[in-house]
This record gives sequence, structure tokens and C-alpha cells, in this order.
Amino acid sequence: MKRQASYNDHFGTFSSDLLYQSLDPGLQASIRDTGFRHFLTYQELRQITVIATDLNMWGEPSLTEQVQQLENELGLNGKQQKKKIIDALRNRWLSLKGQETRYEPPMKRPNARSKPRKIIANDGDNNVFGICPVASEKTVCCNLMTIDAVQGCGMGCSYCSIQTFYTDGKIAVETNLLEKLKAIPLDPNRNYHIGSGQSSDSLAIGNRNGILDAQLDFARRNSNIILELKTKSKNIKYLLKTDVPPNVFVSWSMNPQLIIDQEEHGTASMEQRLVAARAL
Ligand code: SF4
Repeated sequence: MKRQASYNDHFGTFSSDLLYQSLDPGLQASIRDTGFRHFLTYQELRQITVIATDLNMWGEPSLTEQVQQLENELGLNGKQQKKKIIDALRNRWLSLKGQETRYEPPMKRPNARSKPRKIIANDGDNNVFGICPVASEKTVCCNLMTIDAVQGCGMGCSYCSIQTFYTDGKIAVETNLLEKLKAIPLDPNRNYHIGSGQSSDSLAIGNRNGILDAQLDFARRNSNIILELKTKSKNIKYLLKTDVPPNVFVSWSMNPQLIIDQEEHGTASMEQRLVAARAL
């Protein structure tokens, strides 16, 4: 009983882990149960959280099922059992990770979309303009500049790094983008290729807080820029009813529908993307 009570505190500390927090209650319960059954350390909890997330995304038997199977197979007790279980789990995970992904319809991978996100206003003094974060002296770079109007995305592409950067369940939308963009000193003798949507999809939330108006105004005032709005949505409603300057274009990333179904959860279908592109 005493050990359970002190493990409660231990698990309480771990439960603020950002990845754990971002998971749905079923997955959280499975990690919690495994932690309590084997008194896992912080590092072990972290490891099984990553493993449970991947197993779920890959459509494999759940963490709970795999741990139960290993407990039955190994039939050991205490620390010995715990170490063998963690090692076996890690080996299975590594072996799955190394396998090529097979997309065979009608297989449908579980929806890896994160919990619905709350849209909040971002009125901070953060910088909204900069060079693409991938650029460095060691990369072959297209010198793209980026506008960061929204942080977080409500769609759930399984490969998206933004999903792991913003795990607080929110989508933060700039409230004074217009003023911030007006204050950007551009060199009139230089041409700029600027991408919007550094930390989100450029069109998914439309013109919330006037963010599209602000970007179109920025493009109108600076004819030496080409502004690219990148999206996997079909949300062109606002662009259809507004005056879009000629130095703004919308681009869609395209994938076969099978990949969209399996990996790009919550995005527009390939057909919807094509219809939207033709409508503009
Ligand atoms: S739509 Fe773009 S930003 Fe949103 S989850 Fe997919 S890749 Fe990430």
C-alpha cells in the first residue's frame, strides 16, 4: 500500500509530460496501468508512452495487450519481469519501426488525429517573420522566408512535426498581424519568396482575427514578394470573395488518396483539393 501511495506521487510528476498529456484518455489509462503494475521509472514511462503512441498509430495490438501477452509468456516477477518486458517491448517497437509501411486497402489505420484543439488569441510580442527554420549554412536552401500567423494545427497528419511542437491542445492565432507585418523592413531591391503557415496550415482557419486580410495587405504593399499560402484544406471561401493580389498564390500538397486516408487525418480529400484549386 505504501509503495502504491508513493508511486502515485511519482506518476503525478510524470503525468505532466507533454506527449502523455496530448494522448486520448484510453491511451493514457493504458500507460498509467502499465506504470502502476510494474512501478516504472520516469524514463521507462517516457519510453512506453512513445511506444504506445506509435503502436496506436501503426494499428498494432495496444500497449496493454502486448504487456499482458509478455507477462504471460515470461511468467517472472518483480524487477526481473519488468526489465524483460521493457526490453521485449522496445525490441518489438524497433523491429516495427524498421519495417516498410504497407498501404493495402481496405486497411484503415486508426485515426491519429489529436484531440480537438481550442482556438485562442495570441497577442504576444513574438516575431512573426523570419527565415525558414530548416535553413542553415549546411543545408541546400531555397531561402524561403516565413510568416508565422498561427501556431498549432487542428488537422492531424501523422508525419507532422508541428503536432509534436504544439501539444498544449491549442491553436494560437495572432491578433495584431497587420501591424506586425507593417513593421517588417524589406529591402526594395530584393525579391522575396515568403511562405505562410510555418507552424500551421495557411488556410485551415480562414480569416480568423483578420490574418488573411493582413497577409494580403502585406502582399499588396510589397510587389517584390511572392506570398505562398500552403494548405491541405479546401477552405478557400474567404479568398473567393476577396481581392487577391497577383503576387499571392495558393499551393496544395498532393498525395494519393490512400496516403491521405492513412496519414493525413482531418485534411481535405484529393478530389476536394483539386476542386478548390480549380475554383481559384
Ligand atoms: S495540415 Fe500541415 S500543419 Fe496541419 S497537421 Fe498536416 S502537415 Fe501539419
